[in-house]
Amino acid sequence: MIAIYPGSFDPITLGHLDVIERGSQLFEHVIVAISRNPNKRPLFTVQERINQIQTCTQHLTNVEIDHFESLTVTYALEKNAKVLLRGLRVLSDFEYELQMAHTNKSLALSVETVFLATSNEYSFLSSSLVKEIAKFGGSVSHLVPNNVAIELEKCYDKTPPSKPAPPNPQP
Ligand code: ADP
Repeated sequence: MIAIYPGSFDPITLGHLDVIERGSQLFEHVIVAISRNPNKRPLFTVQERINQIQTCTQHLTNVEIDHFESLTVTYALEKNAKVLLRGLRVLSDFEYELQMAHTNKSLALSVETVFLATSNEYSFLSSSLVKEIAKFGGSVSHLVPNNVAIELEKCYDKTPPSKPAPPNPQP
């Protein structure tokens, strides 16, 4: 059975990776599919995110990375997937996720949404939180895969070019 794990993954966190690893043990094939969320302005391009996820999922032989522009269910049907995999962290996720699951079911009866409860240690973790910490120079190495931590550091380390010094006042 093929499962699609759709999301923004901007960037992938250890919470996402945990869902991917557990999903890969439940399903024959997992497609991590980067979707465009119109309500979010991404920090990383789709190609950068594909590379990031590819690098940290190399050990998982039944995991593929892709992206799509269409409705999630349209993409799932195209890929012959019966399952949409999503993660649940806190109660506030539940309302949105349940609404999405019902909406997707109304669009494609044959596609089921399966939720994996987050592992305890990642229940507070989100991509936005990670970006916020990195932006202010904090360490995110315990929250994201190593390759992503390095890219985040580079991203926020671009200090603006220094202004030319003012000319010395003439004596
Ligand atoms: P989206 O823009 O579709 O919400 P995200 O990348 O934010 O994309 O999340 C994709 C999925 O991964 C969602 O189902 C979200 O609840 C889940 N997720 C995000 N962070 C975690 C985490 N720390 N633990 C478990 N699931 C998570």
